[in-house]
Amino acid sequence: MLTIENIEVTYHHVVQALRGLSLEVPDGKIVTLLGTNGAGKTTTLKAASNLLKLENGEVGEGRILFKGQDIRGIAPDRLVQQGLFHVREGRRIFAEMTVEDNLVAASYALDRRNARADYDKVWDFFPVLKERRRQIAGYLSGGEQQMLAFGRAMIARPQLILMDEPSLGLAPKVVEEIFATIRRLNAEDGVTLLVVEQNAGVAFSVADYGYIMEHGQIVMEGPVEKLRDDQDIRSFYLGVA
Ligand code: ATP
Repeated sequence: MLTIENIEVTYHHVVQALRGLSLEVPDGKIVTLLGTNGAGKTTTLKAASNLLKLENGEVGEGRILFKGQDIRGIAPDRLVQQGLFHVREGRRIFAEMTVEDNLVAASYALDRRNARADYDKVWDFFPVLKERRRQIAGYLSGGEQQMLAFGRAMIARPQLILMDEPSLGLAPKVVEEIFATIRRLNAEDGVTLLVVEQNAGVAFSVADYGYIMEHGQIVMEGPVEKLRDDQDIRSFYLGVA
């Protein structure tokens, strides 16, 4: 579904954020990308959804293939129409609009006329959003805002979702709920996901395969059952001796 081949990314011509990074997200799978602050996880997702130019990040050599097509140079909103949706760090909902209008805006942006079934699906996945649909989104809790960001992605009926640290700043119970939804969307609709996380425990609970990155490079990869047993990962990411 997504292949990143040997990409280099430099910000403002000086900060080298990615150094020949490659990874593969197979169709129908959930892949997680783990790493500490500043490792380059967000940059990897931005490269894959072509957001870097807007932020003064340049992709050097290398290729990014989505469904087999080289997507470099395709505008991010065109990529959404082609099935690639990036749920960005910090959630980025419309804080001053109601919950429902956030979904309406997402469907308008896609020129989707008959979106009621899409809204119903979001309500079904996140009943709390349905209860709060007339509330101003900025007043939702952090977890509910993450659900709304996820719901906006669902409206686009994507084939691939890139998710940037969905667990960030959320209570464990809410994180569980978000990740249960990730699993459900994958199982029911076959949506492929690349999930960036620092919380390895929860990421491993849903992912099939994981990559660990440091300083702009992949330093380890494997099926999650294998990564879970690795001594370094256990002590560094899972906090077990
Ligand atoms: P975090 O978990 O803190 O978001 P990350 O693994 O997602 O970290 P990135 O945000 O991709 O890491 O950052 C990778 C490197 O690129 C860091 O050294 C960071 O300081 C730098 N960087 C990121 N964005 C920019 C930018 N817009 N301009 C300059 N440097 C940047």
